[in-house]
Amino acid sequence: ALHETPDVSKPRYVRVNSLKLDVESAILELKKQYRVQKDDLVPDLLVLPPGIDLHDHPLVVNGSIFMQGKASSMVAAALGPKPGWEVLDACSAPGNKTVHVAALMKGEGKVLACELNKERVKRLEDTIRLSGATNIEILHADFLKLNSNDPSYSKVRAILLDPSCSGSGTASVRLDHLLPSYAAGHTNDADEERLNKLAAFQRKALEHALSFPAVERVVYSTCSVHQIENEDVVKSVLPLAASYGFHLETPFPQWQRRGLPVFEGSENLLRTDPVEDKEGFFIALLVRKITNTSKAF
Ligand code: SAM
Repeated sequence: ALHETPDVSKPRYVRVNSLKLDVESAILELKKQYRVQKDDLVPDLLVLPPGIDLHDHPLVVNGSIFMQGKASSMVAAALGPKPGWEVLDACSAPGNKTVHVAALMKGEGKVLACELNKERVKRLEDTIRLSGATNIEILHADFLKLNSNDPSYSKVRAILLDPSCSGSGTASVRLDHLLPSYAAGHTNDADEERLNKLAAFQRKALEHALSFPAVERVVYSTCSVHQIENEDVVKSVLPLAASYGFHLETPFPQWQRRGLPVFEGSENLLRTDPVEDKEGFFIALLVRKITNTSKAF
């Protein structure tokens, strides 16, 4: 189209669940009805025309494809888990990223999926069942209370931390807050108190993730646009991270939109824009090399 209006011009994304179907077969099937392209950035992600409803599509119903946005699909891909690894998803329900991690691991190795909320554990179970993954173990627990020195976690090599956040980057929240001041990141007192509480939790959770003895890769993500939940959280853990040997790496270096320039190194961070990219997401990747002597396995 020559004249694109922002929202209707945004494509639909679906992630092919490679545990059940390969990308080429998914394309062949979807091509019968829609124009389909591979995403240029995220493997296994397909781009379809805007405005189509896929909820009842047989491939969605049988778990061969997941309706998952691009930004959300970038998170597990940024973590880059390898087949055979042990990976911990710290805050996992409803499990979209958990089953994406399992798919990237080609069903080899183990995914520990931690979730605090009992109702949401059920949704996690449903997602896992639908995905066909057989190597995911659910931990109905408070991530903050997992003892990182417990031998059961001594092989955890990567942690995905996608904690509760304000959700200010997602469409449903944005519609409630169409005030220009909110869009500019201004908040009222009640909002501010909530944001402070969320940020305190997010910081604790990120620090906890960094404390697992064998972890080499930690991804921290939110669907928030607020600096306090994003750059500020990362900045606040950097001294501790450095003491454990972690540094920031750049997920998807080709991606233009990076962290707000509020500290040295924030250009490693990744942001997506709630309007331009349809969803406001934030991704940070912390990496370290574990030497053989200190490796727990
Ligand atoms: N990663 C999920 C996905 O892509 O489907 C979405 C995760 S959602 C943003 C955050 C989840 O963390 C919620 O389900 C919430 O119940 C859970 N949660 C909050 N605090 C937690 C804690 N202390 N320990 C474990 N899970 C927690």
